[in-house]
Amino acid sequence: MSDGRSRVVRWRGADGGPFAAEGAAERWEGVVPRAYARDGEAAAAAGVVRHTLAGGAVDAEPGFEVRCFEVAPGGWSSCERHAHPHVVVVLAGRGEVLLDDARHSVAPFDLVYVAPWTAHQFRAAEDAPLAFLCVVDRERDRPQRLPAGRLSDG
Ligand code: MN
Repeated sequence: MSDGRSRVVRWRGADGGPFAAEGAAERWEGVVPRAYARDGEAAAAAGVVRHTLAGGAVDAEPGFEVRCFEVAPGGWSSCERHAHPHVVVVLAGRGEVLLDDARHSVAPFDLVYVAPWTAHQFRAAEDAPLAFLCVVDRERDRPQRLPAGRLSDG
């Protein structure tokens, strides 16, 4: 946790170690990756790790949070919808995003805006991880999980 002061958080680079494992090596100095689980979902199976870079529990001030998610090859995020929007920028890897009923391939530097109440899910390619930044409101409603993520079926 930071003390809320201005700072530079150094990128350490991927170490070749496992993606999507609790305790995976830090990608950013001092930022501990956390397995991303909600409602008892088997996060390890889905292969998603979250790094909270700013906001949230890290900094008191911003009304938003900046997180980086890493999805392991073949992994996926929950299929969900909610009132709060997301702004996502892909940093590395390859994958797909589901936005309502449309599937889009995504690659580094693509931006995805997820408007309120859009059903959405991210999936990494079978042979590549997917890493993306996600900016989200600090105060936000709980996601509604949708049945059997549609991307994860495909
Ligand atoms: Mn969401």
